[in-house]
Amino acid sequence: MLTTRQQHCLKGIGIQQWSERKTSDGDRSSTVSVPVVFAEDEIEAINQFIETAQQPTATDAPAEEQSPSPVSVSDSVPENAEGEHAAIRALDSWDAIIEAIHGCDACELAANCTQKVPGVGNRQADLMIVGEGPGHDEDIQGEPFVGRSGQLLDRMLATIGIAREQVYITNIVKCRPPNNRDPKQDEARHCRAYLEAQIEQIAPKVVLSVGRVSAHNLLGSSEPVGKLIKQMHKLPGTETPVKVTYHPAYLLRNPSAKAIAWQDLKLLFQMLQ
Ligand code: URA
Repeated sequence: MLTTRQQHCLKGIGIQQWSERKTSDGDRSSTVSVPVVFAEDEIEAINQFIETAQQPTATDAPAEEQSPSPVSVSDSVPENAEGEHAAIRALDSWDAIIEAIHGCDACELAANCTQKVPGVGNRQADLMIVGEGPGHDEDIQGEPFVGRSGQLLDRMLATIGIAREQVYITNIVKCRPPNNRDPKQDEARHCRAYLEAQIEQIAPKVVLSVGRVSAHNLLGSSEPVGKLIKQMHKLPGTETPVKVTYHPAYLLRNPSAKAIAWQDLKLLFQMLQ
């Protein structure tokens, strides 16, 4: 059963929480409203899903859809102007990671952003959220997911009783791509060592990957998000589960997809138990 606050939040993101169900009482039948969440058989199905789900292999995707193998730390080490490998020098503490991000000039994004957006939140979080890259508001404020998408993300988390402060939020790239274009492959590759170092420091129970760019880069996949959502994944080379869901910006444009996102949130809730 959801708390009043969660019900309020669900309403806020436009998801129906109650469904009509017929009951019969002697020879009278009537319709009652029942919550659509956490039915017994649904929890069982979710648990089975978690138990049996496999990480998709590269060969699951048709050749033309396959993206390059996930970038390894050594491949992805950003090189600064002097040719030094900043990431190798030191990405073994939070101070080092944040300092390296702020000092990074490995790609053209750094030259064009207002400021770097390394990430925000609880560094011991069970849940780490990885988006695509800072947008306009994030670029100005230096914090990920603070614009309209971020507000929806906060409300989505609230529906499963999680406050923004409890999680760690970051992006595939730490600088805003101009005009909110997708980050290019080499830009994501340059930022990869920072993300991997952040994941290593946090050691989250679950990574929530929001949107296509995040999912493709995290998983080294090029499958449509709609397909990745239905599979369970692990961060390549690790045992860390990854849940893929739609980007809040996509949900703002396509409210009907919120029903699927709500299923994702329920599954996420289970994964975090
Ligand atoms: N979209 C993202 O993917 N990340 C942000 O930080 C903001 C919007």
